[in-house]
Amino acid sequence: METRLLPTDPAEMLREGAREAVRLLEQGEVVALPTETVYGLAGDVQAPDAIAKIFEAKERPSFDPLIVHLPRRDLLPEVAVVEDTLDAALRPLMETFWPGPLTFILPKQPDLSDAVTAGLPTVAVRMSAHPVFKRVIHDFGRPLAAPSANRFGRISPTSASAVQEELDGRIPLILDGGACASGLESTIIRIEPTERKPIAHILRQGPITAEMLKKHVKIAKPKPSPSTTVTVEAPGQTESHYAPNTPLRLLERPEDFHPDPGKRYALLSFRGLEKDGYMELTTFEDVAVLSPGSGKVPEAAVRLFFLMRQLDRLGVDEIIAEPVPEHGIGAAIMDRLRRAAAARG
Ligand code: AMP
Ligand code: MG
Repeated sequence: METRLLPTDPAEMLREGAREAVRLLEQGEVVALPTETVYGLAGDVQAPDAIAKIFEAKERPSFDPLIVHLPRRDLLPEVAVVEDTLDAALRPLMETFWPGPLTFILPKQPDLSDAVTAGLPTVAVRMSAHPVFKRVIHDFGRPLAAPSANRFGRISPTSASAVQEELDGRIPLILDGGACASGLESTIIRIEPTERKPIAHILRQGPITAEMLKKHVKIAKPKPSPSTTVTVEAPGQTESHYAPNTPLRLLERPEDFHPDPGKRYALLSFRGLEKDGYMELTTFEDVAVLSPGSGKVPEAAVRLFFLMRQLDRLGVDEIIAEPVPEHGIGAAIMDRLRRAAAARG
């Protein structure tokens, strides 16, 4: 199959691209679309063929559920059953963070296909704020299943060319919306209504941080081991999800590194500053800098998966990663780096 790549800028191109995407979606095809987090591979939740194609193109095991995107909030009852107390707890969060990179785990609507939720009694629901995604789903008019547009166990794509690298020849269309603004997968939460402030269980850290959620909900204490917690509630949250093929080691301190003279290394540096003590540890084959401009964590988030892909292509023996400050979206970056580092074992 030929994979076409269509631009979405200027407005006339977006109109044409969206028309083509909707035409394909209506035929039960799948299309890759940009969102504010990473690129998604979208298909009609009501078309079993489309859902099967998502799993096939991604080589995703059937036990790993998909995220469902809504064109409008009032379509939530089509995919989830939200009783009144849960609705009251969700409302302020949806008003504040939707459309945006926040995914809710909700009780599933019985008619929604088990293939979408991997047989779970719950469904993951989100509303994207990306102009291209919004345009396509609005014109399509119904919910779309859209997990990240990468092959299973690989790094999520944050650009159209990364989607090509992942799925070229497997899908008919990619709409190019440029680089994704936040660069990390959506925050996933489950809300537990209580008599007082609702409790939010963060199942996957992401662009909507605990600090941002705190105003509306009490944040449940994370369970000690992230991988075991999430395995139960979110089967997709395995370490390998965020790992490059090359083994990645997260160094907490420069002095913990003793290079093996026979090995080739690359460095994933936070700011690329010598004074941090990582740059001079060995002769790195390449040094990729997460935040060359501002030294701020949002810039690092945008560049993380892009640079991981770049370093992965070098074929070095090991990627050494510096830690980033763990505030704001830095917590989600460190979560991905820890999972990537854990996946090598
Ligand atoms: P992706 O969009 O590729 O990040 O993949 C969707 C991820 O959302 C899955 O790997 C799961 O971790 C999570 N997810 C989807 N549905 C559910 C659900 N019903 N319960 C918990 N997690 C879910
Ligand atoms: Mg994914």
